[in-house]
Amino acid sequence: MQKAQGKVTSVNESLVGAKTIQGAVMNGEVAYIVIEDGKRLKAEVIDVKSGNTVYLQVFEDTGWMKVGDPVEFTGLPLSVKLGPGILGSVTDGLQNPLYELGKIEWFLERGLEVAPLDNTQKWHFTPYVKIGDKVTGGMALGSVPEKLFEHKIFVPFSLQGDYTITHIAAEGDYTIEEPIATIKDGAGTTTELQMAFEWPVKRPMPFHERSVPVRPMPTGIRILDALFPIAQGGTACSPGPFGAGKTVLQHSLAKHSEADVVIIAACGERAGEAVEVFKDFPELIDPRTGKSLMDRTYIVGNTSSMPVAAREASVYLATTVGEYYRKQGLNVLILADSTSRWAQALRETSGRKEEIPGPEAFPMYISTLISAFYDRAGVEILEGGNSGSLSIVGTVSPAGGNFDEPVTQATLLSTGAFWGLSRALSDARKYPAIDRIDSNSKYPSLLEKEEVAYLLELLRDGKSIASNIILMGEKGITDESYIRYQKSELLDAVFLQQNSFHEVDGVTNPERLRLMFNMVREIIDAPVRIAGKDRIRSQFNFLRQAFLDWNYMDVNEEGFEKQKTKLLNLIKQLVHVAENV
Ligand code: ADP
Ligand code: MG
Repeated sequence: MQKAQGKVTSVNESLVGAKTIQGAVMNGEVAYIVIEDGKRLKAEVIDVKSGNTVYLQVFEDTGWMKVGDPVEFTGLPLSVKLGPGILGSVTDGLQNPLYELGKIEWFLERGLEVAPLDNTQKWHFTPYVKIGDKVTGGMALGSVPEKLFEHKIFVPFSLQGDYTITHIAAEGDYTIEEPIATIKDGAGTTTELQMAFEWPVKRPMPFHERSVPVRPMPTGIRILDALFPIAQGGTACSPGPFGAGKTVLQHSLAKHSEADVVIIAACGERAGEAVEVFKDFPELIDPRTGKSLMDRTYIVGNTSSMPVAAREASVYLATTVGEYYRKQGLNVLILADSTSRWAQALRETSGRKEEIPGPEAFPMYISTLISAFYDRAGVEILEGGNSGSLSIVGTVSPAGGNFDEPVTQATLLSTGAFWGLSRALSDARKYPAIDRIDSNSKYPSLLEKEEVAYLLELLRDGKSIASNIILMGEKGITDESYIRYQKSELLDAVFLQQNSFHEVDGVTNPERLRLMFNMVREIIDAPVRIAGKDRIRSQFNFLRQAFLDWNYMDVNEEGFEKQKTKLLNLIKQLVHVAENV
């Protein structure tokens, strides 16, 4: 089929109008606009109108673009190259490598396209199939070791129907461009296959079989694992005002969540924030393997100098790569920070297209796009019974921290866990500043259901007693209420609050969470017999400090058991102190 040709008719920042002079254009296809100095700027068709008019969003700076510049349509949708070599890389939303270890250059020259995956590296391929075997799209032809995993080499998912292997490479080292297999369909047509293939980013990869997310994904963050958990294959959103801790939370999840692969989609809030991620992450050590965290991480991001259209591309690219690693049978976690930046890009483009705006000038279809994005998460039962999962955690940064705006609302409806970051908590330095009362999750906790309800009840009691104290003063409430309030404050201070930056306190594994919960329960259940607010307060302060000291100790540390005994003794004193004095 002949590819379409066109000419630029209007330039409005990243939205470019064109007229086709030959051939038909498909919505979603990629085009290149050739500017004066011969550079080819990548763009995507986002609207096909009558009268040969098309609209394109350009992924690069459109400065120097003129009416009349030629447009070369490719007939192909925006795609990602899937194959070994993705893990450990940092790319922009078009899969251009932004960072290579050892180099600190991440600004690509305009119009420059680099091979998305290293095509010189050799991978050690072991075939799983032999000549004569029947295969179909999505079946593994063999595998290569990639960092920590066996990376399966699939028959491209787009190949439907039955094929017969007519050639398969022997075990050995190959690049992703060398042919490793030839397959033949029923009509006798042969296709040569390599280790990498393309997939259109906006098309969800079909699930082999979809299953419900029920296995908790420990995150190392106590308030989440205990009260507002996420499951493997689940979705969560963390809306919050500027500075409430969204990015710190995302980074903590990246480091400590029980996911095999972490994909970071960074659309930075602050100028330079994404660049910080690109620079910092490659230096981090994976607490689980002792090797580089990048061995199981892929970062896709936009610097603030990139045009808005690239943010959208980043979100879709991250999701497609996530689906691919789920097909590998791995548990994948996508962290998108911040999805509001993506939504704002859609708003800008929609505004330039002069579409009828919805609430707060976001396009009417924003909620459809957001829910389609989160719907790509999930648990997949793969051929042969293994499973993989894709979880998505997105931050939302509503202007002024007002959760009533369209992006937060659409995200809330599309996600299974809601972690509302609160300005009041972050101002009080109660980190993670996740609202203890208004957050929720539909996924199973690492604690028992009754235990979760028991903690939430104490927190609600504590909150209502606190408001009574504000109204009537400490004198206005009974000692009994005051003790309940102190218990709730202690629960918050020693269990829900957590210092992300501390080596030990920053991550709590499931066993330690259980140990801590049991200790907290000892305290909550203790029939405290102290009389007088001052004495109650000072006894609880004492206990809180001892508990915090314990939190900062490694379980293998010498003092750990001693501190535990000390805590238990302090709890006994809560009950007996009345008799002792
Ligand atoms: P946001 O992304 O919501 O704008 P950040 O994640 O950048 O906010 O957090 C702002 C600051 O708050 C951080 O630089 C850090 O000092 C503090 N902070 C946030 N979360 C924590 C945490 N869990 N532990 C300690 N400090 C935190
Ligand atoms: Mg942030």
